[in-house]
Order: sequence, then structure tokens, then C-alpha cells
Amino acid sequence: MPDEMSRPLIRERGEGGSSRRLEASMSEPSDPVIGILGTGDFSRSLTRRLVASGYQVVVGSRTPKRSVALFPEEAEVTSQMEVASQADLVFVAVFPEHHSTLVSLKPALAGKTLVDVSNGLSITHDGPSNAEQLANLFPESCVVKGFNTLSAWTLQIGPRDGSRQVFLCSDSSKAKKSVMQICRRMGFIPVDMGLLSSSLEIENLPLYLFPSWRIPVLCTLSLFIFFYLYNFVHDVLHPYVTTGKSNFYKMPIDTVNVTFPSVALVMLALVYLPGLCAAFLQLWWGTKYNRFPAWLDRWLTRRKQFGLCSFLCAALHAIYSLCLPMRKSARYKLISEALKKFKEGSEDVWIDEDVWRMELYVSVGIMALGLLSLLAVASLPSVSNTINWREFSFVQSTLGYCALCMATLHTLLFGWNRAFQASRYHFYLPPTFTLVLILPMTVVLGRLALFVPCVALRLRQIRRGWERNRNIRFTLPEDDCGNGLEDVSNCFDQCQKRSSKSRDSLVPVCPLTV
Ligand code: NAP
Repeated sequence: MPDEMSRPLIRERGEGGSSRRLEASMSEPSDPVIGILGTGDFSRSLTRRLVASGYQVVVGSRTPKRSVALFPEEAEVTSQMEVASQADLVFVAVFPEHHSTLVSLKPALAGKTLVDVSNGLSITHDGPSNAEQLANLFPESCVVKGFNTLSAWTLQIGPRDGSRQVFLCSDSSKAKKSVMQICRRMGFIPVDMGLLSSSLEIENLPLYLFPSWRIPVLCTLSLFIFFYLYNFVHDVLHPYVTTGKSNFYKMPIDTVNVTFPSVALVMLALVYLPGLCAAFLQLWWGTKYNRFPAWLDRWLTRRKQFGLCSFLCAALHAIYSLCLPMRKSARYKLISEALKKFKEGSEDVWIDEDVWRMELYVSVGIMALGLLSLLAVASLPSVSNTINWREFSFVQSTLGYCALCMATLHTLLFGWNRAFQASRYHFYLPPTFTLVLILPMTVVLGRLALFVPCVALRLRQIRRGWERNRNIRFTLPEDDCGNGLEDVSNCFDQCQKRSSKSRDSLVPVCPLTV
């Protein structure tokens, strides 16, 4: 038994004696013989995964003798022509610029499925794709695009780590189905992307560099630079210029720690601002069927990333704040304050207002961070997939607004009455917290405006399809309320005053746009 367990599934060539083919018990007679053209990194990883999944694999090389040692002994390494004739389905693991060197295999590959695994060099939106060019080269074969989004490494370690999805497309549904089957048996999840015309999109997929993160990250960095410079001018440069006091030691921690919460709060407000813009636009237009401007569309789809950037800044602020008392500068300041008080002969240094402000400020800050953590966790696909739409919108919208209110309150408590002290306006610049509060306060007030019953009702109607400029004709059995062209809402409003019986009997005939 221990001997059985220690026997590797795939044996390296030369291990344990002579080369052997795949054990008959593993490969079903109905399974296709799978060929792979090319003996590079991708080919080697693919061979291992296919052999481990029980397939019979033949690998085609220009120099089989040189490459044979790199493959497991269960796979046969032979000439390209031999593979083209033996295999039922062939993976083309060769760079696309060398596809043309395979044309001599055309007769042998006629009627067979070719899987193009190649990637492009750069993102392009103009075809033809590598797969379409391969299909032109081999018009008698069925080309399937796929597996290019998996790295050789992912293939080697298997689907338990890394991406499990394999995007596939082809003009032949039969060929696509057979590749899907192989895909599933290897433990991956095939994703049908339709016809071969989608291959350009699939080839571009591995080349994108965080496409949905670019704007949120740029926004975070820009806000960080802006607030850092603002705080530097306010807290470091101003005392130096006006009194000659050197506060440059504040730059690495103090200034950064005031900058992070500013960025976090503005980014959190930016999560909810596009939703408000969309709501007010719909109210303004009186319909939900107008398309939002492209910038708003993009912004709406990036809210999760904005929220996660905000969470990161808030978490860093919390860590920085915890580290504040550890600094030498903080200890020196504390001792010198105590000595000053001692020299002044003051015994009681307890200021009730300051104590309360700090207690509330810290408590509300912790709650805001807790809620933000909850939002961040709920945005993970593995978590959001387990909750329904109502739960998701409760967490992201209701709790999200609670987090925004808490964070705003945290900043208000920090500011306390300092916004009204002239000494806080350095170089005529307001303190950072007043500047930071503008956007979140606007968002919170905008949200409150949407709670006003008549506004909320109109928005709800719009979101259920009501349109201000659209006339809908209703036939009402008993009265003339809906005869002729009538605005659906007006008609509904008028009829609402009547009995529920007559309202229920409203029958829309045909919607007419005027
Ligand atoms: P590679 O290591 O350079 O292997 C390419 C193989 O192509 C060579 O080993 C060579 O094998 C064969 N070949 C056939 N005709 C050729 C010719 N005329 N000139 C040069 N080589 C020729 O490349 P790879 O990393 O395995 O990538 C192969 C394909 O997989 C590419 O299209 C790539 O875009 C795609 N891919 C790779 C990865 C990855 O992680 N590596 C991931 C996704 C997709 P013989 O000398 O034995 O004939």
C-alpha cells in the first residue's frame, strides 16, 4: 500500500526504467488523442495536465530527440507530421508568427480541431486576431480559441490555485464542445464566448493591466498628493515661515496621518456621489431610459474600487494613529507639556471638553472603520455570491451610507469648533478638515433630499418605468379618465383618487411616444 501511494501519477522520463505509454486503464477508448504542436513552456505544462487528466498525448516537435527528455514518459514526443496524422484534436502551442511554418501539415489536419492558445503582443481592437489568421491558414480545420488566459504555471499546478475559468470561442459548436469537455476534465471551468469573432477580445484579456483600477488608483494618488502638499504648507511650512519653528519632523508620520483620513473620506464620498448624480439626472429627465453620460457610466461601475481604496486609506490611518504615541517626538512633547504645567504651578490638567471630544472622536472613528471593513468583505466575490440582491444592496447602500455618516461625524468631532478660530487659517487656507468635509456633506445632504417623500415617490415611479414625456393610452371600462392620449402618471394620479377597484382595472393599450 505505501508503495502504491508513493508512486507519482506522472513519471519523469528515465525514472524507474524504460519509457511507457499512458496506462490503458486511465485513457478511455472513446477519448480523443490529443496532439500538441510545440515543446515550449506552455506545451510542457499542458502535457502534464492532460496526462494527469487521463488523456493520451502526442507532442510534435521540429527536433523530437532534443525535446523528449523534457516531457513525462506517458506522453509521446514525435515529429509535427506524426502528431497531425495521429491526433484527433491539436493544441497549437507555437507563437503566432510561426503559425505559417505549419502549413505543410494542412492536409493531415483537415477536418480536425485546432486550439489556438496564443496571446497578442499588445492590446488591439483591430482584427484579424491570431485565431482568425490561423483559421484562414487552415480553412479545412475547425479553430477554437482558448487557454491563452492560463499561464504555463497555472496549468502546471492545476486549477486549485489561480484562475479556473477558460474562455473559449469557435465558429464550430461541435469543436467547441469537445474542447469544453477536455477543459472540464482538467478541472477548469469553460466559459463560452461565442463565435471566433470574439477571439480578439479573448486575446486581449491577459494583456489588460487592472483596467477597472486605473481611475480609482489615480484618483487616490492625486488626492493623496494634493492633501499631503496642503497639510505640508499648513502645518510645516507656515510655522517655519512665520515663526522659524521647524516642524519638518512631522513629514513622515504626522502629515501622512492627516492625509490618509482626508483621502479616505473623499474617496468614500466619491463612491456614493455617482449614484446621487444618476438619481438627480433621472429626476431631471423624468425617465430612466436616457443613457447616462459615458463618464458617469464608467464611474458607476468603478464604485467598488473607489470603496476599497477608501478602506485602504482608512486602515492605514488607523495603523498610523496607533503608532503615534510610540514616537520619540510624542514623548518629548508630553514631557515638555508636563514640565510647563509644573512650572506654571497648575495641578489639574484635565479639560473636560477635550476629553469628551477625544472619546467620541475615537469611538466614532472605530465604528466607521468597522463598517468600512464590512463593506470591503461584502464586496469580495466569494461573499457577495452567497447573499441575495436585497442583502447586497442593504450592505453596500444602507451600511455604506452609515459608514459615510460615521466618517463625516468622526471628522466633525476632530474639527470641533476649530473651524471658527482665525488662528487655524494659515496663509488664509482653511484647516484640512473643513476642506475635506465639503464633498461628504454634499453627498449626505443630497441623499437626505432624496428621502423627501414627494422626491422619493417620483424617483420610485421613474425607476419602475414611469416617464414624464411619454403618453400611454389606457382604456377604462367605466369612465373617460384614460380615453385618448394621457400621461400615464397623471392618469394614475387622478385614478388613484378613485376606488382601488377602478384603479386595478387600468388596461394599458399601447405606449406612444410624443
Ligand atoms: P516557447 O517556450 O518559446 O515555445 C514555443 C515552441 O514553438 C518552441 O518550443 C518550438 O518547439 C515551437 N515551434 C514550432 N515552430 C517554430 C518555429 N518556426 N520557430 C520557433 N519555434 C517553433 O513558447 P511558450 O511559452 O510555450 O508559448 C507558446 C504559445 O503559447 C504562444 O503562442 C504563447 O502566446 C502561448 N501562451 C503561453 C503561455 C505561457 O505561460 N508560456 C500562456 C498562455 C499562452 P520545437 O522546437 O520543439 O518545434
